Formats: sequence, C-alpha cells, structure tokens
Amino acid sequence: MEPKRFTSPIKYLDWISEIINVVCPSCSKNAVIKEKRIRENGIYYWRSNKEYSYECKNCYTVIEHSKIHKYELKLNCPNCGKNIMFKHQWTKKEMTEISISCKLCSETIKAKPKTVEINAFWYKNNMVEFKYWYQLRFKDNLLWAVNKEHIEFLEDYVSADLRERYPKRYGMMLAERLPKFIKNKKNRESLLKALKKLKEK
Ligand SMILES: [Zn+2]
Ligand SMILES: [Zn+2]
Repeated sequence: MEPKRFTSPIKYLDWISEIINVVCPSCSKNAVIKEKRIRENGIYYWRSNKEYSYECKNCYTVIEHSKIHKYELKLNCPNCGKNIMFKHQWTKKEMTEISISCKLCSETIKAKPKTVEINAFWYKNNMVEFKYWYQLRFKDNLLWAVNKEHIEFLEDYVSADLRERYPKRYGMMLAERLPKFIKNKKNRESLLKALKKLKEK
C-alpha cells in the first residue's frame, strides 16, 4: 500500500483562523469570533489593528470589540518628594488626567498618565479571555483547534505516514509549530480518536 502523504494546503494558522469557535462567556455554548479581513483577488489583507466581531447564536449576548486603556503614573510628590506609583486596571474610560493624593502628606496631585491602548473584547466591565470551543485534555496536554478546518488539518497531519519536511524560511509554519505530543507517532491512534470526538462536539 502507498504510504499516506500529508497533503494539507494549509501552511499557516492565519490562513484558517478567520473564524474562531469559542465558548460563550454568557451561556457556555459554541460562539464565533470573526476577524474582519479585506479580501481582494483571493488575497487577504489584514488591517494593522485587527478588528473582530462576536456572535453567539444561542443567547445573542453582545460582546464588543473595542479600544480599552490602561493608565500608569510614576512621579515624586511635588510637596514631600515621596515616590508615587499608580497603576490602573484595563478600562473603557478615557482619561487624560489622573488625580491622586499622596499617602505621606495628603497633597492632591493631578498629572497626565502614561497610557497603553489595545483592542479587546469587553464584557461585564472586564476584558474577555475566551476558551476555544474545540479543546479537550489529551493525557497531560491540551488538544485544541480554532475551528473544524483546523481539526481536519490536524487529522491529515496525524494520520499521514510521510510528513513533509520544510526548508528553513521566515516564520514557522503550522506543521512545524505543532506540539510534541501531536508529532509523536505513538499517539496516532488515540489522537485520531480524540480529534474525531472534538469534531463531533
Ligand atoms: Zn451565548
Ligand atoms: Zn507628598
């Protein structure tokens, strides 16, 4: 019998991660994060600041992807010289000035903070950290996939007898980045079972 070759045309995770299946933080069902990409002549263009949308078809919770800020202030009290350090949590609030009082002399200080800005999902006054919908424990590892196409890629890779070797180039390709437990041929049968289970989730 001919050895089965790994033939997936997918080279980078970015190629298939336009849609990511995640656990809805509100109802725990399968929800979708979509990356807004510009597509022209079959080629994708990424915006420098990635934009995403969120949708849960089970509970329709609205989760915004928007600009959030973190503020930091580091100075010496102009009255007594004490070091003052202030760190704010991530917030949607825009602040150009922060007002704090010195713990030593109670002087009120107003100053312009150092600001970090990112785009993130925001839900119930917190930044959301999503869990992949397609994930399960495999021995001591976490087996995960961003979507069904990604599972199919992994199935193709795991079941192949001949796995391509890539010449060195810029960046690491998806097949090269796979964790050891996926590359380990001893895990083949049990991995294929686990992937099948994931797919049926
Ligand atoms: Zn939901
Ligand atoms: Zn002071």
